[in-house]
Amino acid sequence: GGVPAAEALQHADVSALLPRPAAESDKYRRGVVGVVAGSARYPGAAVLAVSGALRGGAGAVRYVGPAADAVIARHPETLVSDGPPSKAGRVQAWTVGSGLGEDRERLEDVLGARVPVLIDADGLRLAGEAALRARRAPTVLTPHAGEAAALLGWERTEVEARRLSAVRELSERTGATVLLKGSTTVVAGASGVRVNPTGSGWLATAGTGDVLSGLIGSLLAGGLDALDAASAGAYVHGLAGRLAPRPAGASDVAEALTEAWRDLLRGDGR
Ligand code: AMP
Ligand code: MG
Repeated sequence: GGVPAAEALQHADVSALLPRPAAESDKYRRGVVGVVAGSARYPGAAVLAVSGALRGGAGAVRYVGPAADAVIARHPETLVSDGPPSKAGRVQAWTVGSGLGEDRERLEDVLGARVPVLIDADGLRLAGEAALRARRAPTVLTPHAGEAAALLGWERTEVEARRLSAVRELSERTGATVLLKGSTTVVAGASGVRVNPTGSGWLATAGTGDVLSGLIGSLLAGGLDALDAASAGAYVHGLAGRLAPRPAGASDVAEALTEAWRDLLRGDGR
């Protein structure tokens, strides 16, 4: 009972969490993140998720889905394919769901992977609680209040009024680390609850959630545990929202991620 205690994320702690390439790193050791997002109806979601994934520190981004042409046109460094994700080659973490439409088959293929998976947007709507509980590797969910309400069977107003309780309850029910988006983003996992202080109302614009899903997937591929990846991702994304030109579109926020990293890596030698 009562209100769950939560820790506010600190700049220095997030800075220490971010993965840095070692001198002897190569792209595979830095981690490969797989992105399963986008559809004929929402090709832009794939582009935006990849744009976040490219700025999360992983060594390579693999995109699997029908929006490969759009992804490549904007981000030619992406590895693309259009078959089952499990046949696409090795990845250290997946992000799935942004603009996915009704592609349940690809979602289920990803959920079967024994690597960390982040689930957003349409993926949250399509994945049942049983499939989440059956996962054999860490899972991160990134709902906004409406998506959290649907998963919990609560009214949206109730989620808004009791955000800490909602995020903790959803984490307990699913066994996943849950990031509840909003003006103040909160993250709950088995080992704690964290509150992100870097939000900005300028982030309330279409597509910023897709960027966040790619960013956190990339941090997972880089080896951060689920709670650290989700909370560091929220922090860096919020900082980018403050640094981006105003008014910003989601692409501007994605581009500002590099400036947010610069801010957090200040003091690093190389
Ligand atoms: P989505 O709801 O999936 O489009 O994601 C929206 C993104 O913008 C999330 O990262 C939210 O936390 C963020 N966001 C939305 N509204 C606000 C707000 N009023 N203040 C700060 N961040 C916000
Ligand atoms: Mg969204």
